[in-house]
Parts: sequence; structure tokens; C-alpha cells
Amino acid sequence: MKRSITRYFFAVILFFLSCNSATESASSAEAADLVIKNAKVYTVNKNQPEAEALAVKDGRITFVGSNTDAKKYTGDKTEVIDAKGQFVMPGFIEGHGHIHGLGLSLTILNLMNVKNWDEIVAMVAEAARKAKPGDWIIGRGWHQEKWNPAPARNYLGYPYHEELDKVSPNNPVYLSHASGHSAYVNAKALELAGINSSTKNPAGGDIVKDKDGRIVGVLAETAQGLANRAYSAWENQRPKQERFTKWAESIRIAEEDCLKKGITSFQDAGSSFEQVEGMKKLAKEGKLNIRHWLMVREDNSSLRAHANVFPIVNEGNGYLTVKAVKVSLDGALGSYGAWLLEPYTDRPGWVGNNTVDIDSLKAIADFCWKNNVQLCVHAIGDRANRELIDIYAAQIANDKSKDHRWRVEHAQHVNPTEIPRFKEWNVIASMQGIHCTSDAPFVPKRLGAKRSEEGAYVWQSFLKAGVVVNNGTDTPVEDEDPVANFYASVTRKLKDGSEFYPAQKMTREQALYSYTMANAYAAFQEKEKGSLEVGKYADIVILSNDLINCKDEGIKSTKIVTTLVGGKVKYKGQF
Ligand SMILES: [Zn+2]
Repeated sequence: MKRSITRYFFAVILFFLSCNSATESASSAEAADLVIKNAKVYTVNKNQPEAEALAVKDGRITFVGSNTDAKKYTGDKTEVIDAKGQFVMPGFIEGHGHIHGLGLSLTILNLMNVKNWDEIVAMVAEAARKAKPGDWIIGRGWHQEKWNPAPARNYLGYPYHEELDKVSPNNPVYLSHASGHSAYVNAKALELAGINSSTKNPAGGDIVKDKDGRIVGVLAETAQGLANRAYSAWENQRPKQERFTKWAESIRIAEEDCLKKGITSFQDAGSSFEQVEGMKKLAKEGKLNIRHWLMVREDNSSLRAHANVFPIVNEGNGYLTVKAVKVSLDGALGSYGAWLLEPYTDRPGWVGNNTVDIDSLKAIADFCWKNNVQLCVHAIGDRANRELIDIYAAQIANDKSKDHRWRVEHAQHVNPTEIPRFKEWNVIASMQGIHCTSDAPFVPKRLGAKRSEEGAYVWQSFLKAGVVVNNGTDTPVEDEDPVANFYASVTRKLKDGSEFYPAQKMTREQALYSYTMANAYAAFQEKEKGSLEVGKYADIVILSNDLINCKDEGIKSTKIVTTLVGGKVKYKGQF
């Protein structure tokens, strides 16, 4: 009897011992595919702000905690990344960019960093030498305010197109402004677009002419459409498959560029239904490398004709979602297109462009409301922001309790009275940190000091009012680099060292939140991404600097060490 009791106790002890050892190293059930350890994890989850380690299985996070506890998730087949004390955070979400434009910009003339107009002329000359007669020469990214020296012969800072004509007489040239709101063309492009000095300005557009009525070469806002149509006619005569292959390759190049910069999700501000179809094909074939969230940019009748396209949710294992619509209500400040309540300080009598018919915007708002589609409208000037909040308020008043998450893209310059109205109607301010420091040199010229201080890029005023502010770069208007954008968001510092109304700076925590959780929320994706929490996608970035604690100037030298999407390493820095 006694002997059997002893044996019984031994058996019990062995049983417990075996249970214990099973919790110390990973049992097959909980072994992770990947463990990241020895990290300074910044989770963007207020319930567990910091951690040392993470575990990932089947593309999702299964554990966030200490190095010791992470051992439980480390099995024989688990890949282990030793972060060596580096900063680990949720992958950046680009909150407003143009994925097709980014792809295109990486395959055409990049004019973003040119010193002056002469350099542009030289680049066009080189491209014309290589091109077949009739081929379009496309470029993007110039900004007349950045040229040094300014062109000697100019109108409103714009040179005349004759120099382009000399180097490219047989090839139409189309060079988009950095803002995308105007384009420079040469004589051949003007000819193909059917534009001459007697051509009337289209509604919402401007064929810029000097005081003597001479065409300068700049087509602003909707006037770009005239040359765009001629370009599209040339492009569309090429076989469909050839065009698709070229487009898909440009998306791949854009994604590669994003991964290099730590971006794991991208919110596109303007896809056509044709582009949505293309993205859906890539998602289904598992060919997307970052997660995409697209706003559809089509007119009212086209939206209604394609209503059945909505919604596309997490197609291709979480790589594509389409349930938002984009409309542009005005232009940009740099190109005098932002629609203002009072005239521009440096262009008397001019208040900018209203680029969409208000009644069709109202009809689109009605379509979006009834179909549970998020409406995202570009509004830069204070007049555009006021008109838009009026339209939003009229629609939202139908059911104020509805979780609509409608967005104002840019909300760049608002009259202070609009700020509480964003909160009242639960409207998201979808802003871009880098626009502030890029535009700062000319903002006071355009708006004067008072309007600049009270209403331009007023992130802190929005945040204090309780408005959700998300963040992005509007790439390819700006480089999509989140590090440079983060630096702009927390310093508002210009190249010359001055700070643009520093009271509106974001804190480090606010800026990281704006780039992760706020962007996820602004896309109805806060349950899937935006923070490092159990159950969310393992979209993670490892950085060389601690973005919360490093010095301001240290931010700029931050490198992307590793980018992971769904727990898979998609980029590894070589340095
Ligand atoms: Zn944009």
C-alpha cells in the first residue's frame, strides 16, 4: 500500500515536472515562426507601451513582452532576430500618397532635386536625344520656388517654354509640378493639345498667359487635362497587355521604395476603377508586397455605374482594401490654386481655384453616405475647407451617431472657426507634416503673417480640439520617407534652421501615433494594424535610432534596419 502511494506521488511529480518544462521552451502549439528579441519595442499601445520582444505566427503577432517570456515562443524552427537594443515599432502607414504617381515618378524624369530651370532643360535635351520622334517626354517634381537662380526671363517665377522647344522640337514634353496641380509643356505638346493663344481657360483651370497674352507654358489645375488627353491618346494606342505590364512593374518599384523607407501600408489618394481592377488582380495573385488602401477618384456618374465594386476588404490576405472615394475641391497653395476666403497676399484679387462643381460633390457625398463609403476630399484653402465642412455637416446630420470617418485631405489652411467644426462632425484632418516645412518659405508670401500663424498646418490646434490628425507625405509630391516627415512633424524646422510657428509642433508620441494608429483608424483598420498587439498583422520596422528619445538632429540620420510585412522580412538595410 505504502509503496504504491510512493509510486503514485512520483508519477504526480513527474507529470507536473513535464508540464513545467513544456511552458519553459516552446511546445509545438505555441512555437512562433519568428521571434524578435533584445529590442526597444515602442508598441503604440497605451496599455503596454514598451516591450523587449515579439513573437509572430502565421503573419500575426502572438506575443509582446519580455525577453524571458519570449523563450516560450522560441522553438527549433523559429527564426530569431536579435535587434541588439534597436528601436522596433509598427510599420509606417503612408496616410496620403499616390501609389501610381510614385511608381510613375520612379520611371520618368525626376525633377524634385534639380537646382534650377537650366538643369531641367538639360535633362529634357538628354531625354529627347534618346527618344523616338513623337514619344512623350514626361517628368515630375519641379517647383519654381526652389530654383536657384530664378530664371532671368519669367512670369510669376515661371520661365517661358521656348527653351524646351529648342531642345525638344519633335517630342511633346509634359513636366508636372511637385504639387501635381500644374504642368509645364512645350510647343509640340501645346500643338497636340490644341492650345493656342485664343484658347479659353477651361472651368477651374488656367492656361497661364503673361500680360501681353503670351502662353508661358504652364497649365494650371484643370487646364492640365487638355495636354493629358493628348498624352492619353498616344498612350492608349499601345497594346493593353503592354500597358498593364509597364504599370505593374511601376507598382513593384514603388513598393520596393516604400519598404526601403519602412512603409508597410499605403493609403492611395486617387485610383481609377481601371487601376482598382489592376490592383485586385495583383492582390489575388499574391503579387503585392505592402498593404494598399485605395480611394477611388472618378466622377459622380462613373461612381454610380461602378457601385458594385465597393467594398473590397482585405483582398489577397489583407493586401487590398477599397471602400473610399477621393474628390479634389481646390488646388495647392504653391501654384495659387488653394481656394481662399480672401485674396492671396502676393496675387491681389486672386482667390484660387474651385476645381469641382459643388453640386456634383454633394451628389458624391450622398452616394458615399448611402453606400457606406468613406469620403475623402482634398481641401487646402480656408474657403475650400469651409465649403467642405458645410457639405459634410449637411450629410452627416442625417445620422450623427454613424461611424463615418470622413476625411479632409490636407486641411492645410483653415480659418480657426473651422477647427471645432471638424470635432463637432467627427471629421478627420488628414495632414502631411512635410508639407509644412516644404511650403514654409512661401506660405507667408501667399497668406501674410496673420493667416499663416492662425490657420496654416495647425496640427496642435486640431489635436487640442480632439480632432484625429493623421500623417503622410502626398508622395510623389514629397519623398515618402517617414523619417524626414517625422522630423518635420516634431521640429517644423526649415533648411535655414528657422522654425515655422513652433507652437504647432507635434510631440514625438503624437507624431508616431499620427503615422501609425491614426492612419489605421482613418482607414477603419485599427483592429488589424497601427500598433504592435497580439492578433494584429506583424507589420514591423526596426530602426537604427530611438525616435522617442534621440536628439532632434539624430532623427535625420535614422536608418531603416529591417522592414517586415506579415512577419516576413521584405527589406534589410546594407550598412
Ligand atoms: Zn494628394
